[in-house]
Amino acid sequence: MTNSFDLTGRVALVTGASRGIGRAVALGLTAAGARTAITARSGRDLAALAREITALGTQALVLEADITSPGTPERIVAETVAWGGGLDIVVNNAGAIGAAGPFLALTQEDWQETVDLNFHATAAVCRAAGPVLSAQGKGSVINMASVAGINGVPMISHYAVSKAAMISLTRTLATEWATDGVRVNALAPGWITTDLTEPFTVVEGLADTLTHSVPARRWGTVEDVTGPAVFLACDASQFITGQVLVVDGGLSAYEGGPGLVDLVPVGRISLR
Ligand code: NAP
Repeated sequence: MTNSFDLTGRVALVTGASRGIGRAVALGLTAAGARTAITARSGRDLAALAREITALGTQALVLEADITSPGTPERIVAETVAWGGGLDIVVNNAGAIGAAGPFLALTQEDWQETVDLNFHATAAVCRAAGPVLSAQGKGSVINMASVAGINGVPMISHYAVSKAAMISLTRTLATEWATDGVRVNALAPGWITTDLTEPFTVVEGLADTLTHSVPARRWGTVEDVTGPAVFLACDASQFITGQVLVVDGGLSAYEGGPGLVDLVPVGRISLR
């Protein structure tokens, strides 16, 4: 019996791999056997990650680049294909919130910056990688969306919209590329401890308040996202495409606000 979780011989490209979720996903794909091209702006962090990957007995390609620069998405895809002799897995993970504030406090520039990075760069990587994956007749694209792209979120309207656009693109590409053997799915993490969410912890009490609305009663770790990413990358998920896999400790699974989850330990209550 073959191991459908095995990625030996596969070539992956992970954007935003210098830290946080992207770094953990690159290590997860490596542990499953893939050779991985890692890209971000911080060359030193990428070099350190490449050493870790090499120590695990596989190979890494470091691509230091700003993914929002014109021509970069095309270049990183071409360099990955030249290095790996093909491309099997693309993880569009590079992203940021940028400024945060109520809709009327955010500027057009705030919107442009966040949407350019989270959505337009993802679309550009898909545009560059699509023909390669289709020509091979196989491939898995994983777009790092967010629960923010499923619901409205106060203070980060631009970010939420960019993630909603990623989800929409995911579903559309899945339908367009399915007959070519190319799968396109999204991950939608909830609150995960990384540099991106660090600013939320400096507001006194806010981190705990946010955790309070998570039934699992904790922030997620980057490793919580690794397994779902490897699953979507490998053949174990070969009939899954166009889906959004939510990784949020139950945050989006219930209605009723934080209050009701407090009642769970109380047990059965008779209500009239
Ligand atoms: P993070 O720790 O801040 O990592 C962001 C990554 O994106 C870094 O590797 C960063 O590398 C890269 N990046 C940012 N701007 C870039 C640019 N212009 N060009 C190339 N790379 C760039 O954040 P994270 O929490 O791991 O987030 C990773 C993804 O998960 C994002 O798409 C985020 O929206 C999504 N997400 C996160 C959470 C959460 O709670 N943390 C929840 C839902 C979704 P450099 O700075 O070195 O370029």
